[in-house]
Parts: sequence; structure tokens; C-alpha cells
Amino acid sequence: MSENRRKFHLTTTAVHAGRHDLARLGTHAPPIDLSTTYPIRDFAEAVTSLEALSAGEACAPNPIYARMHNPTVARFEQAVAELENAEAAVAFSSGMAAISACLLAFRTDGSHVVATRPLYGTTDHILQDGLLGTQVTWAPPTDIAGALRDDTSLVIIETPANPTLDLVDIADVVLQAGDVPVLVDSTFATPILQNPLRHGAAISLHSATKFLGGHGDVIAGVAATSDDIARRLRRTRVATGALLHPLAAFLLHRGMPTLPLRVLHAQKTAWEIARRLKAHTGVRRVFYPGLRECDPTGIVERQMSGPGAILSFEIDADLSRIGCFMEALNLITPAVSLGSTDTLVQHPAGLTHHIVDEAARVSSGVTDGLVRLSVGLEHVDDLWMDLDQAIRRAVPLSDRSSRRRKSQQRLEAAGC
Ligand SMILES: *Cc1c(COP(=O)(O)O)cnc(C)c1O
Repeated sequence: MSENRRKFHLTTTAVHAGRHDLARLGTHAPPIDLSTTYPIRDFAEAVTSLEALSAGEACAPNPIYARMHNPTVARFEQAVAELENAEAAVAFSSGMAAISACLLAFRTDGSHVVATRPLYGTTDHILQDGLLGTQVTWAPPTDIAGALRDDTSLVIIETPANPTLDLVDIADVVLQAGDVPVLVDSTFATPILQNPLRHGAAISLHSATKFLGGHGDVIAGVAATSDDIARRLRRTRVATGALLHPLAAFLLHRGMPTLPLRVLHAQKTAWEIARRLKAHTGVRRVFYPGLRECDPTGIVERQMSGPGAILSFEIDADLSRIGCFMEALNLITPAVSLGSTDTLVQHPAGLTHHIVDEAARVSSGVTDGLVRLSVGLEHVDDLWMDLDQAIRRAVPLSDRSSRRRKSQQRLEAAGC
């Protein structure tokens, strides 16, 4: 579908994507279609429509039944496809529903998956437990090729990764994977900062609950991909019913025009906070792709247009003091999830990544002191005032200078 090729600048595309037919329809805001079923006026047409939609076609003359197709959801999908420069996008009821559909759709080719760590905690869990009948081999991004088997059906990576902001070189993984399709969970980057398909990935997947929804009021997932893979995903969705509700699709589509503004503004603030945290005596380490030490090989430059609005940092305190930090915050909300208009902070080892095997968690950098910050749209100085006082509450003054010296010695010894 060549009409999805991006003709305009990103900000223009974000405003107009999925709305091209509105003027012809004589309306300005996208209509919401809540029908669960559609009148059959031509029986033969209904039969061919049903067959086409069950086989995974994007649309048909009669939508038949809302598990097969919904025009409001299709608009949101069209918008994501345009932003990702993809042939198609398929929306689901959550990010995990989208990931599950990908695993199920590719199980027809084999049951083996190669994946990198860290991944979003529940993605790790679903793979590690083989909940959907897949077997996983965990591999470092530099040794994907060595982990492939004859029945490997999918390679799964996440970049920037949750919660350590590890970067994975998409083009390099694609090269190593050969014929095996590569799925990139690009949630942290959004289509504004990274388009994995451009680097050869087969699927760019988003938890649309995060930046795409952007206001903390929608759970959704979406996969941008080729027409061919989209057909497989729709076929899976028709069968399993992990549908995005049209009201949720409307809200997601409504938020698209401001997505670039939200992401770029939050990114600017995140960058400044990362710099200030790095200089804070109560902070051991800062993980943010915009800091040179976090991206020594220049991956951001090669595959992203910016480092994003999420960062993590290690507070120079024992686990027992993390609660003091969280409870001392006045403006920033301690909560899981990310990508909202307001700034959220959470503790991965205790919450989102609690489900991950402990040894794997620690070896992938999810330490007890790690805190993840999703920067919102507040003023940087208000956020900083809140963070600074909460860190100081967690790290008693007397501890700070000696700990700082020790941690610096440790970092120097590690060659950082
Ligand atoms: C939140 C998240 C998911 C899961 O999405 P849900 O919408 O919560 O199902 C997957 N991957 C990443 C990176 C996430 O942040």
C-alpha cells in the first residue's frame, strides 16, 4: 500500500494520518462506529466479505461483525502505519495482546524464539514460561546468529529496553537473523523517534498504552508491519478476539496529532534531568541513551532521531530507602506505566520486573537501587525540585560524600 509512504514531515503526518477521507464524508472529526454487527443487504457479498476478513484482509465491502473489522480502529491503524512508514498496522486490546498475537501468528513456522534481555517484564515472563507454546533462547544482541535454530520463527528485541534503556542495533540483529523475521518492541521510542522497519525489522510493536495514548486512559497495543504479516496478525485477532475497542481507538487517534509535540517536549526535559541527576551526589548512575557513556557505539545517531523521555537511575541507598524516596515525592506520581502527560516513577526490581527470574534480572542490570522515570510535560524546574528533595530524603547527608567517593572508585575500576 504505497499510499502509506510518508509524503510530508512527521508533524504534518501526525495531524492528518487516518483522516484523508473526512472531507469527502463531509465531516471534520472521525466518526465512531460502535456496531457489533452489520446489516446484510447482499448475501453473496456478505459471504465473500466474511471469507476475506477471516483470511486476514484489512477490509471488505461488508464488515460483517466487529471481531472481523471496525472502521474506527482501522483509522487508528492507518495513522500508525503512516507514521511508521509501514504497509499496514494491526491494533490490539493491549501491548501484551499484540505480542501474544505475534507469537501465535509465527508459531505456524516453528515454536522457537530468540530474544534479548532485558525485555518488558511480562514479555520476558510469557517467553520464559512458554505460556503460548514457544521455546526461548536468550542471547546477547551480538550473538543472535549463534542462537538461531532451524525452527526459529521469530527474533524479539526491545530498544531502548525497559527499564535499563539498553540500546540494540536493529540493523545488526536483522543481518544476523537472516530469513527469520525480527520483532522490535519500540514502545520507548514511539514512531516519532524510531522506525524499526526502516532498518529491516519485520514488525515494529508498541504498547499504545504508553506514549501513543499518552494520557494514561487507554490500554492498547499495535504492530506496524508488512501487508503479508498484517494478514497473519488479523487472522489471529479474528480468531482470538484480542480487539481494540472503537472508543479506545478514537482516543488513540485523537492523540496522534500531538504525539510529536508531547514526545519531543518530554525528551528535552528528560535530557536536562539526566544531566542534573548525573551531577547529584545522591545518585550512583544514570541510564539515558542521550548520555554518551550509555551509547558508546552511537546507536541513537544511527537508528533514532532522539534518546526519548524515559531514564533510569540508581539512588545511592539501600533497598530499604527506596520507599523513602517514593514517599517523599510530592509532584511526581509513583506508578507503573509510562509515556503519560504527567511524570511517573517506579521501582522495576520490586514492581514491573519482579516477575523476571532474579539472576536474569540482576545480570541484565535491573538492580535493587534502580528507579525508572517517565518524564511528562511539567516544567523541568518543578520536576527537579521534587526529585532533588526526595533523593536527599532517601540518602542521608552523612552517607553521601563517602558513598560518592566509593562509587566513583568502583566506576573507575570498571573502566567507566
Ligand atoms: C507496557 C509495555 C508492554 C505491555 O503493554 P500493555 O499495553 O501493558 O499490555 C510491552 N512492552 C513495553 C516496552 C512496555 O512498556
